[in-house]
Amino acid sequence: MQYSRILLKLSGESLAGNGNQGISDSVLEEYAKQILEVVEKGCEVAIVVGGGNIFRGLSGTKSGFDRLKGDQMGMLATVINSLAIESAINRLGAKAKVFTSIRMEPVGELYNRDKVVEAMKNNTVCILSGGTGNPFFTTDTAAALRAVEIGADVLLKGTRVDGVYTADPEKDPNAVKYDTLTFDEAYEKGLNIMDLTAFTLCKENAMPLIVFDMNKSGNLLKVVMGEKIGTLVQV
Ligand code: UDP
Repeated sequence: MQYSRILLKLSGESLAGNGNQGISDSVLEEYAKQILEVVEKGCEVAIVVGGGNIFRGLSGTKSGFDRLKGDQMGMLATVINSLAIESAINRLGAKAKVFTSIRMEPVGELYNRDKVVEAMKNNTVCILSGGTGNPFFTTDTAAALRAVEIGADVLLKGTRVDGVYTADPEKDPNAVKYDTLTFDEAYEKGLNIMDLTAFTLCKENAMPLIVFDMNKSGNLLKVVMGEKIGTLVQV
């Protein structure tokens, strides 16, 4: 196994499957299965999931929402998605636990780095919900922050594309995939991998990032075992 402790970032939109909103049962089940595959190998897993399938603060401002309230709605959306992932993992017979960045027992326990690490060592998948707990941030930033805090070996960004391309492969047929990149190269080329706050956190803390297609069965295990799929971004 190449990575024994991972922080997996899933976007809210990916949970929606073919639609852009809501939660798809089949995607949930597929993700839970993949997560279990790596847990069974002894990999410690923490997850940060977005909330874009339910609400995004910034889009809310367009229809007149106050940004702070909209962001709070977005953070609560990530809690809903996290509970869905927790249930899906539990249904398959494995242990999972939701932590929240904002106090809201009994929905989940308040995030505490030491408790998360302890639970992960005990084969419990820890789902770190509520983003950073602060408005004006994203769940990519929460993922980068938590990855650094818990001492993850790598931040894995599961997407529906199989890596970072020279252009958007869903729009440009000539787009070429990068196998590896440095953070500086990605920045200079203006590649939109994560927002800059998240990107800088990873770079400054030498946290490697792998962008890969989580919608293909078995891919998470491949990445954890060190197979070169997706795009690796490092210092
Ligand atoms: N959010 C926030 N602070 C955070 C993380 C998220 O305010 O630390 C809010 C923000 O409004 C964001 C929404 O939660 O739009 C959902 O998160 P994100 O857009 O990152 O979800 P994704 O795009 O990954 O589904």
